[in-house]
Amino acid sequence: MTNLTTQRATNHTAKLDHFLHTLQQAGLRLTSQRRAICEYLANTDRHPSAYQVFEALATTHPDISRATVYNTLNTLQELGAIVELSFGSDHTHYETNPEPHVNLICLRCHRIVDYHGDPGIDALAQRVLAETGFQTVAAKIDLIGFCDECRSQRLQEIRELAKSATRQSPQ
Ligand SMILES: [Zn+2]
Ligand SMILES: [Zn+2]
Repeated sequence: MTNLTTQRATNHTAKLDHFLHTLQQAGLRLTSQRRAICEYLANTDRHPSAYQVFEALATTHPDISRATVYNTLNTLQELGAIVELSFGSDHTHYETNPEPHVNLICLRCHRIVDYHGDPGIDALAQRVLAETGFQTVAAKIDLIGFCDECRSQRLQEIRELAKSATRQSPQ
């Protein structure tokens, strides 16, 4: 049986090493600020935006600048160590998990959560190969919708809207 805690720790160390190595490859000096950014990315599963990374580190690293955070994330993204997930212009988040997985993207709160269950990609790839002759070598799946919390909030909002519409409509 694999020990999940050890496995996670190894994953984090491997991720951190990969991020640091990528910055070095780009010719960037590993300052304590850049190290802190890499550590944050290796330890989070939140798919943070650049601002969220800055915000999370600003308390522990008061000397960190927004420009350093943005430049570091940009370099990591350009070299493929992290992947940009876009929600249009204002909501760029970063994928820090290199393992193949499904992202569950909430349209209301913009939280992105990894789904770890079997997404059935093998079966889909086989069907696609049989039907069209296309051979799948990689897959990227995002499910877009509403998280559990937002689902009930939305229902509430729709009910409120319906109520005020009834109140306003002429009898
Ligand atoms: Zn949500
Ligand atoms: Zn993800």
